[in-house]
Amino acid sequence: MNTYQCARCGEKFVPSFRQYLWGEHLWTKRCLRCPHCGQRCWCRKVMGRED
Ligand SMILES: [Zn+2]
Repeated sequence: MNTYQCARCGEKFVPSFRQYLWGEHLWTKRCLRCPHCGQRCWCRKVMGRED
């Protein structure tokens, strides 16, 4: 599963599959609710590997 980075707080998280399916998305962004700050925002897709 892909990792996304919150545009508001900068935390990274992996969305649930359901959330992943429901979220609107663009090329490298997806509208998801961040579990850290609780806000719905455009989250940038993070390429694996790093952490
Ligand atoms: Zn956040």
